[in-house]
Amino acid sequence: MERQYELIIFDWDGTLMDSVGRIVECWQEAARSLSLPVADDNAVRGIIGLSMAEAIQTLVPGLDEGQTLTFRERYRDLYADPALAPTPVFDGVEALLESLQASGHKLAVATGKARHGLERAFGHSGLKHHFVSSRTACETASKPDPQMVLELCREQGVAPSRALMVGDAWFDLEMGRRAGSDTVGVSYGAGSTEHLLTASPKAVIHRPLELLEWV
Ligand SMILES: [Mg+2]
Repeated sequence: MERQYELIIFDWDGTLMDSVGRIVECWQEAARSLSLPVADDNAVRGIIGLSMAEAIQTLVPGLDEGQTLTFRERYRDLYADPALAPTPVFDGVEALLESLQASGHKLAVATGKARHGLERAFGHSGLKHHFVSSRTACETASKPDPQMVLELCREQGVAPSRALMVGDAWFDLEMGRRAGSDTVGVSYGAGSTEHLLTASPKAVIHRPLELLEWV
């Protein structure tokens, strides 16, 4: 069967790695420890996948440069705390990536994480070898700007119409749509199915391996 897509681009947190709970916890603890307003769980889930700068702007607006830097460092240190167990990948992710590679798809990652955070997650998960490339928000523009998708497509010599963006947040899907790519949402991360559907994905899936039906 001919492949519909040559390149499949995955968001990381909440799409491949089950890290949403940890992110919410660390964000709230960072805010609490700096006596800043503590956003509730839903509000924090809503910023996962944005660049750190945009996330801070959204949830704790009005911080000056120094306070912003302090918050970023506190969050980063909490998230990297070796006392916390590494966050797991979702069940079926490894089998999904292997199957997609076996059928000749190129795989990539587009994430709001910083590069050091993605490299650490690559290391913990053991998944790095599946991907031909990756882009992080600190290297390009934050989602939903289409730049990450467009850069990955250009680098891999793939037309955006032959790429598929997969993510758990509305702005993952909106980024793909603006780039001219099809999208598939996943319902098991940070975003609700209802919200994902407003970005007009081809489908919203409920388990990683369901993606095989759409490629
Ligand atoms: Mg995500």
